Amino acid sequence: MPTFREMLAAAKGAIREVEPAEAEQELAVESAVVLDVREPDEYEQGALPGALHIPRGTLETSVEGRIPDKGSHVLVYCAGGTRSAFAAKTMQDLGYTDVASIVGGFNRWKDEGRAWTTPKSLSAEQRNRYQRHLLLPEVGESGQIKLLESRMLLLGAGGLGSPAALYLAAAGVGTIGVIDMDVVDSSNLQRQILHNTDRLGERKVDSAKKTLTLLNPDVDVVTYDVRLGADNILEVIDGYDVIVDGTDNFPTRYLVNDASLLTRIPVVHGSIFRFEGQATVFNPYVGPCYRCMIPEPPPPELAPSCSEAGVLGVLPGIIGSIQAMEAIKIVLGLGETLEGRLLSYDALDETFRTFKVNRDPNCPACGPNAAPIVIAEYDELCMPHPVAPPNGG
Ligand SMILES: [Zn+2]
Repeated sequence: MPTFREMLAAAKGAIREVEPAEAEQELAVESAVVLDVREPDEYEQGALPGALHIPRGTLETSVEGRIPDKGSHVLVYCAGGTRSAFAAKTMQDLGYTDVASIVGGFNRWKDEGRAWTTPKSLSAEQRNRYQRHLLLPEVGESGQIKLLESRMLLLGAGGLGSPAALYLAAAGVGTIGVIDMDVVDSSNLQRQILHNTDRLGERKVDSAKKTLTLLNPDVDVVTYDVRLGADNILEVIDGYDVIVDGTDNFPTRYLVNDASLLTRIPVVHGSIFRFEGQATVFNPYVGPCYRCMIPEPPPPELAPSCSEAGVLGVLPGIIGSIQAMEAIKIVLGLGETLEGRLLSYDALDETFRTFKVNRDPNCPACGPNAAPIVIAEYDELCMPHPVAPPNGG
């Protein structure tokens, strides 16, 4: 039976080891993966910038999910260079072809005055709360931290905003802005599941804040009990990563589109009518915008707003949930969003279909020859952006 020393010598003999100075150079010139295999309490005290953290104990089970490309250039470290030598050997045995262990580990790296940071990490309570996210390698702890640091704005705390807000809060989106100027009415409760019978007559934003805070105390709910208009939209949306649009009228959608283009904040759009719903993502100047898709609103008699048309209560639950999914994918950079595609759902046929939506080169809002965007109120016709703000102001 080999002794520990013999095993370590064998592992070191089978792998490449790099001095910290050499590792630093390799990190500066190429896209190497830095892998920290220490225990969570060691990692939390300080780590190399951008390090991927997989404790030695779970390396075999999780490394293939976290570093799928076995040809990746990986620099492994631990505290002193022993665990990382074994880790590098294990990875080689798993088929990784370009792994090296950093000699002297984090301790020597730090003693030599090289850059390190204190990584953000989840509390024990958060690890438990978001466990099912952490089990997804595509999310993991870094993705969860991203969500906790993200800011999403919901336009409306109604049918679409309700399910979106609930799922975003449950997922741990750190800041959720909610703008709505209505009060809770009993006719809302058939679909607006943020609210309940006890809240009748209460401002919707206050009711939303209560529900979301009870669901997840990690979430900071910022409320705006105002009408979204040209006078406040830029101020309201400032600093948000994503806008989840649950508004039900054309003038507001065109206004949101202009503000989104100006600030380059992506919009997750959703709309519902009777038994049909639609969702898409507008990524400013990358994909199509709302006006590329709908250059002009239909005449009012063909486009009744939600307050006038009936809707089956589950429908906004489905579309609003899709909006929440897209918002999270945008923040995490996951998969393919609905950018450039319109998802259309028919509840009666129980079918989903997607339609391609292209950027319009002649779009008066985002096209190359579009006039500079002026944020102004739209009339019922939502004509291309007005040349001057209302009242000449
Ligand atoms: Zn456009």
